[in-house]
Amino acid sequence: MKKLREFKLCRKCNKELSYGKFRERKDTGWTDINNKLRYTYCRECEKKRFKEAYKRNPIPQMLSNSKIRAKAKNLAHNITTEDIKKVWPKDNICPVLKKPFEMGFKLGKTKSMAPSLDKIIPNKGYIRGNIVVISDIVNRLKSDASLEDLKKILNFYIKNEYK
Ligand SMILES: [Zn+2]
Repeated sequence: MKKLREFKLCRKCNKELSYGKFRERKDTGWTDINNKLRYTYCRECEKKRFKEAYKRNPIPQMLSNSKIRAKAKNLAHNITTEDIKKVWPKDNICPVLKKPFEMGFKLGKTKSMAPSLDKIIPNKGYIRGNIVVISDIVNRLKSDASLEDLKKILNFYIKNEYK
C-alpha cells in the first residue's frame, strides 16, 4: 500500500514541510494525505532552481514566452533557440540603450535590463528576420506602437507639450 504523508522532507533544502508546500504532479512523485502526487522539491526550491537556470541561460524562457504570446495573439511563430542565438548582441549590451543586460528578477518580474525578444514588425510575429534582442524596458515602452507614434511620444516630452 502507498504511504500517505502529510509532511515530507524537501530533497533540496532538507526542510520538513506540509504537503501544500509542494506542487502537485500527474505522473510520479510522493503521495500526500489526499492521495495526490507531489514533487520532491518544495515550491520555494523549484522557484530558486528556475531563477538560477534563467540566469545561466535565459533563452529557453524567452522562447517559451514568445510561443505563449504568439498563441494568445494569433501570430506566426517559427523561431528556434538557434535563431535567438544568432541575433543575440555579442557584447551582451542592449543595442537601444547601450547598457549591459542583467539576467535577474526584481519583485517577481524580470529586471528592466533583462534581455527580451522583440518583433521588429509586430504583426509579422516571431519569425526569422523579424526578431531582435533588446532590454525588457525598451520592449515594454515600445509595445505595439508604430514608429510614427514613438516619434510623437518623444516629441511630446522633448517639446514639453504637456505644459
Ligand atoms: Zn525545499
